[in-house]
Amino acid sequence: MAKEKEIAISGIQASGNLHIGNYIGAIKQFVELQDQYDMYAFVADLHAITVPQEPDKLRKNTLDAVYLYLACGLDSAKTTIFVQSHVPTHTELGWILNTLTPMGELERMTQFKEKSNKEGSLAGLFNYPTLMAADILLYGPDVVPVGEDQIQHIELTRTLARKFNSRFGETFKEPKDLVQKEGARIMGLDDPAKKMSKSAASKNNYIGILDSEDEIRQKIKIAVTDSGKEIKYDPATKPAVSNLLVIMSQMSNEPLKDLEEKFAGKNYGEFKNMLADILVQKLSPIRKKYNELANEPESVLKILQKGAKKALGKSEATMKIVRQKIGLLMNID
Ligand code: ATP
Ligand code: MG
Repeated sequence: MAKEKEIAISGIQASGNLHIGNYIGAIKQFVELQDQYDMYAFVADLHAITVPQEPDKLRKNTLDAVYLYLACGLDSAKTTIFVQSHVPTHTELGWILNTLTPMGELERMTQFKEKSNKEGSLAGLFNYPTLMAADILLYGPDVVPVGEDQIQHIELTRTLARKFNSRFGETFKEPKDLVQKEGARIMGLDDPAKKMSKSAASKNNYIGILDSEDEIRQKIKIAVTDSGKEIKYDPATKPAVSNLLVIMSQMSNEPLKDLEEKFAGKNYGEFKNMLADILVQKLSPIRKKYNELANEPESVLKILQKGAKKALGKSEATMKIVRQKIGLLMNID
């Protein structure tokens, strides 16, 4: 009998325009993994509302993220693509995990500290990591491909799996985070000390995957650089230029070393022009595909129906075991 494929799962929040950090740190990996793994990719709408969202915009962002998954190369025949809120086992297990999670564990989460400063502290934002642990543990994955900022949440996921297992008996597998060697933390174009984010205050923080050619060129033109004029990879002394080099390397598949050689003696202007060209070239076909998909939403809704059904089937099997183990009254019909 053929060996069963290992499982991979990950998600992206429906919290705004997906950017090249999301592409490089997350989606690119999903696309590579889907041939080898039983891959699940969802759009986290329930995570997005941990900071205030406009309802109509949330709906649009959710669908846009699905179109972008497909436009970037996820194949619904290989990857189970679904929307988090269509699969209610996520919130159910999230609640149960909350009852096992010490407040102290959540208080030290970097994402909570960073976002609560900006948005005020909502209980949902505080509990974000327990819902994320549920998103993952429901599917018994081996790996979770993410950007660097999410490693801490996956560590907590493993901690919660161990806690549950030691209290109620072996139930959950402890998943590994899968983080790229380079490109796992793309920094903001307007501030290389902070990561690029959908919810950044300024649009100049990021290149959206759907940005127009003009927007891309303009944003790269005004992207912050460092003092001196050398184009080399040295995050300690040249954080801004190093970030731009990583973006170029990830988008062109050329090693950093080769790029440093290529731009030896060249100035920032020439380097930025080339980077803008590469981004335009890489993102235009994705934008084109996105537009095609956005014009045929019915076929995408079918993909989401199929995805939700499969995700619900898989996660409900886990929940039956969980409910039984923690002592919920079952079998009343
Ligand atoms: P928000 O600002 O709303 O939190 P975000 O840009 O951080 O949005 P998420 O939806 O939180 O995006 O994260 C989706 C995936 O993209 C995660 O795997 C995350 O680690 C990855 N990711 C997010 N930002 C970056 C970045 N700057 N560089 C690399 N990976 C990133
Ligand atoms: Mg984030």
